[in-house]
Amino acid sequence: MLLETEKLSRVYGGVVAVNEVDFRVQEGLITGLIGPNGAGKTTLFNNMTGLDTPTNGKVLFEGKDITGKKANEICRLGIARTFQNIRLFKEMSVVENVMIGRHFKVGDKNKGRFLQSVKSYFFMKNEEKTIYNKALEYLDFFGLADLRNEDAKALPYGHQRELEIARAMATEPKLLFLDEPAAGMNPQETEHLMEMISRIRSLGVSVVLIEHDMKLVMNICDEITVLNFGNKIASGTPNAIKHDPVVIEAYLGSE
Ligand code: ATP
Repeated sequence: MLLETEKLSRVYGGVVAVNEVDFRVQEGLITGLIGPNGAGKTTLFNNMTGLDTPTNGKVLFEGKDITGKKANEICRLGIARTFQNIRLFKEMSVVENVMIGRHFKVGDKNKGRFLQSVKSYFFMKNEEKTIYNKALEYLDFFGLADLRNEDAKALPYGHQRELEIARAMATEPKLLFLDEPAAGMNPQETEHLMEMISRIRSLGVSVVLIEHDMKLVMNICDEITVLNFGNKIASGTPNAIKHDPVVIEAYLGSE
């Protein structure tokens, strides 16, 4: 197992947001995390990525206990994530957003200075050029390289979402958590996103995906875990999940 939780619980006051969940992520796969609103999906993400600390239970990554570690430590170990709401540096350019992810990977020595010089490649130090060129590779992967000098806020919505994924990829994760990446996307944007996530898997990066778009989930996930009221109610292949009466009752409905 690349990542697993052992009886992970998170309680807020009287609310049991996640209840003794054993969640497993196998290396090289796309794992879906689905369930109704308020089921505990984002809470589980937050507790695996250091944004929150479990009330009980453990998180193991590559066999090591990472429970309670800070978000930046966890990122350095090789886990990157995106958020339900877009969190770009909107006043900065597209390439600068990805360079920030890259800087996180290589260290912060030049922070601040490189951002001022980004518009004049000629004057950049070699180290900064390497970061810039690497950032361009990630943009190119998503088909965004031509937009590198645009302000992030000027991009269409679907591109902004993919830019966030590009920034996360620039930290060179082993495991990428995506929290509702298709939310608000039109069908063409969703189609492109689906291709991108499959290509990320083919690079050897494992993916965990929270998503309400069932077409996307059923098409690209290798494994799916279902939460309901904080409890894990099922896990298995898309086909098994689709036909599981407990999941149909709690979430999918019968069509
Ligand atoms: P959605 O699909 O709507 O994003 P979700 O499955 O991600 O839902 P969570 O956001 O994890 O669900 O919420 C699980 C439960 O925990 C909800 O009842 C929510 O109100 C509660 N909760 C989450 N965060 C907090 C918090 N910081 N304080 C108190 N309650 C919280």
